[in-house]
Amino acid sequence: MSDFILRTNKLSKKYKSDFAIENINVTIKRGEIYGFIGQNGAGKSTMLRLVTGLTFPTSGSIELFGNNNPKELIDEQKRTGAIIEQPALFPNMTAYENLEVHRLQKGIPGKECIINTLELVGLRDTGKKKAKNFSLGMKQRLGLGIALLSDPEFLILDEPTNGLDPMGIVELRELIKVLNREKGLTVLISSHMLSELYQLANKFGIIHRGKLLEELTGKELDEKCRQHLRIKVDDPTKGATILEKQLSTTDFEVMPDGTIKLFNFLDDVFTVSRTLTSNGLVIEHLSQNGDSLENYFSKLIGGVDIV
Ligand code: ATP
Repeated sequence: MSDFILRTNKLSKKYKSDFAIENINVTIKRGEIYGFIGQNGAGKSTMLRLVTGLTFPTSGSIELFGNNNPKELIDEQKRTGAIIEQPALFPNMTAYENLEVHRLQKGIPGKECIINTLELVGLRDTGKKKAKNFSLGMKQRLGLGIALLSDPEFLILDEPTNGLDPMGIVELRELIKVLNREKGLTVLISSHMLSELYQLANKFGIIHRGKLLEELTGKELDEKCRQHLRIKVDDPTKGATILEKQLSTTDFEVMPDGTIKLFNFLDDVFTVSRTLTSNGLVIEHLSQNGDSLENYFSKLIGGVDIV
């Protein structure tokens, strides 16, 4: 069993003369919640449509569940559940009836999957209420139910919180977390709302104007955004020893170029500089660094605010 649920290699899609996405390499491992972040028009939907087989690449390749044979991709796509654009609901039908139609379409045997799915998405008690009378959050959960009906291993959601109120967003987020934790579902979710994805995903891909600018884990993102003092001294090894011995801290990192990132003493820079200089070190640089999430992404895409 491959550890990789999705890998793309130089995936590109061109509409007329313009690339919607170009040379995208993403890697999603089993169990990850992968947040695909980008502004409107960045290429998120195009990417997700390619992965789910709703459109075909101009060049490059897709590997799903370890299989990169284009002829077999359609079988692997059946192991995924997706909501791309609006979920296809029948407004005059109940939640149960909606799922029943999709069960028959997909050829899933037995009706137990319907009750189980309704339970899973919190719609078990909606009885005779028709989908047209559902709140947007309920409609979205029903859409999720349709995607989950065939018990997929990989769930793909394109901007699922669009239009939801804050409570609906929290509910959906918690539901996705439960599915990931308890059913081991791997999730690819796109959004232009960074702050929102940050609370859900543990890996991030940042797309801008069709290009993948960066792929990083939640931990790496935290590190990048964590406030710290950036210290450059003439003898980094000695500097590290002084921080440990004299300031009793180990909450720092010595970077390959010798720069020290110190994560505490942010409010007491004076003590840090005095301790280092009084031990004979020359301070070549000392500054406070670290971005808010918003600033980090904004800088990455060239100063355009995307939250
Ligand atoms: P949004 O959040 O606004 O949907 P997105 O990140 O999902 O944005 P895409 O919908 O993938 O972005 O669009 C990427 C680019 O490709 C855009 O410039 C868009 O106009 C273009 N595009 C997408 N689909 C088509 C199409 N069927 N024909 C022509 N151009 C398209």
